Amino acid sequence: MLSGPGPHTLAILTDKSDEALPILRHSTAHVMAAAVRRIYGENVKFGIGPSIEDGFYYDFDLPQRIADEDLARIEAEMAGIVAAAEPFVREEVSLPAAAHLMRAAGQDYKVELLEAIAAGGLAPGDPVEGAQAKPAPEKPASVTLYRTGDFVDLCRGPHVPHAGKIPAFKLLTVAGSYWRGDPTRPMLQRIYGTAFFSRKALDEHLKRIEEAKRRDHRRIGKDLDLFSFHDEGPGFVFMHPAGMIVLNEMLDFWRGLHREAGYVEVRTPVILSEALWHRSGHWDHYREAMYFTKIDEADYAVKPMNCPGGLLIYLNKPHSYRELPIRMGELGMVHRHELAGVLHGLLRVRQFTQDDAHIFCLPEQLQDEVLGIIHLVDRIYRTFGFEDVRVELSTRPKHSIGTDEMWEHATGALRGALEARGMTYKVNEGEGAFYAPKIDYHIRDCLGRSWQCGTIQVDLAMPERFDLTYVGADNTEHRPAMIHRAILGSIERFLGILIEHYAGDFPLWLAPVQAAVLPVSDRFNAYAGSAAAALRGAGLRVEVDDTSDKVGAKIRRASLRKIPYMLIVGDKEAAAGTLSVRDKAAGDLGAEPLEAFIRRAAQEVRERRLRPKAAQKVLSDEC
Ligand SMILES: [Zn+2]
Ligand SMILES: [Zn+2]
Repeated sequence: MLSGPGPHTLAILTDKSDEALPILRHSTAHVMAAAVRRIYGENVKFGIGPSIEDGFYYDFDLPQRIADEDLARIEAEMAGIVAAAEPFVREEVSLPAAAHLMRAAGQDYKVELLEAIAAGGLAPGDPVEGAQAKPAPEKPASVTLYRTGDFVDLCRGPHVPHAGKIPAFKLLTVAGSYWRGDPTRPMLQRIYGTAFFSRKALDEHLKRIEEAKRRDHRRIGKDLDLFSFHDEGPGFVFMHPAGMIVLNEMLDFWRGLHREAGYVEVRTPVILSEALWHRSGHWDHYREAMYFTKIDEADYAVKPMNCPGGLLIYLNKPHSYRELPIRMGELGMVHRHELAGVLHGLLRVRQFTQDDAHIFCLPEQLQDEVLGIIHLVDRIYRTFGFEDVRVELSTRPKHSIGTDEMWEHATGALRGALEARGMTYKVNEGEGAFYAPKIDYHIRDCLGRSWQCGTIQVDLAMPERFDLTYVGADNTEHRPAMIHRAILGSIERFLGILIEHYAGDFPLWLAPVQAAVLPVSDRFNAYAGSAAAALRGAGLRVEVDDTSDKVGAKIRRASLRKIPYMLIVGDKEAAAGTLSVRDKAAGDLGAEPLEAFIRRAAQEVRERRLRPKAAQKVLSDEC
């Protein structure tokens, strides 16, 4: 178990510590702002400049447009500030004094932030977006200003002591961004950059950015003709035949494992009465993200989650303790309204399929059920090649429903299951949902990016709201325990993650086309055709390239389409009943009898083997 440092832990920030990097990056944002002020003069208005996951940004309001070409000039100015080791000078001033200073400097956005602080709606140093969601802090008597050269910023700190402490930085892109994320406010120019404690770490990061572009699932999805998006349905994916093959293989695998694990499968309607969503609580907590419609004058909603449908099936008849646990899986299509600006290929869509399941069990079965889910998650992630998996347990938040006893039992079942499996996990105290403690899974892809996919939640609210019961051995009614869980999360998003993780080089069992038979000339088209028929007979997905192109061109084409096996046939092969096998990842494997190749390929599919490393190699042997 990992736990946070206690109140008396002395924090020593070394260059490598996780806390130090955001400080370095945020400090670099100040240096960038100082450089922008030097170049563009006093009429630059400054927004905010926080550190973010992989770097930092700063928002600027100025008459000129900053183009990507201008970044080098800003970088050069920044290098000067770094070389001069300009100090970060801290000043504590009263709120009115700070407001006076910023107003005199025409810094309207800073004035607005100071007004928000004065009104108690914002703590000094709070990130601006989302600040309203927090309870109002105490009104501070003073704020801190930091001066770098002639650039003065309203900031809580901390920073590096001087700019000379910034060893390696790079500006990346410019993008438009509304002030405070509000489309009715001015559009500012946001410059993104990053900083590291060494040139080497920065170079590796830049290489990763390039690699991420190469692996972008939107580009690969287009190249391999897997899916598309259209203006007629923003955020709604169109799956093409090749994409459907991958998706269906994923689902076949998923269904097989779930059958083995004792799940049943259901499908519940996409549109259900609005009253149901009031009862489930989604109306209160989720309305903003839901779509609504009318049928025969009555109000209906498009489901954002599958739970209420599953509950109606459970309620459809009485249950005895002997039937429990009921593990009810649903590959349920849900719709959620995401803002147009955040839609991102398959990774952020408005319609997706959850690999959902609801488990109804006796309270004393809870821990075993969680253990069973953990086991399933493990098998599924491993099969797709994700070994680096982080697990987090989120416990009871301050505002929650249910009794202490319920929370202890539910949280204990999650914790007990993790411990029974000997798993390392992080505890997020107080970060559970108001109705449920939960386990979240984060998988790391071969670029080191982390994706939250699986979740296991023990629901303390729904069984009450829907008055779920079972008849116990004592012949009276009891309340069952209920678990919500998803493993892949969204099937569509998981496909997007897979495409990027594999760079489009799918394992054989998922590849839309598994082998291409390439006759060296049209004299061998007949043999190629009969070999392809034999391969198809064994269940393999095969194409024959019987164009009149040279075999080199056919190999290039198959390789670009990321077909795992290229089977070249000419004189020798036709005479001997063999294939010259070329593995896209491992290279030439030489001649192999047709039957032997079929057996080998079929086994590779059956075992859902990952492709040889060479196909997925990125920066080192990470993948
Ligand atoms: Zn700062
Ligand atoms: Zn659910």
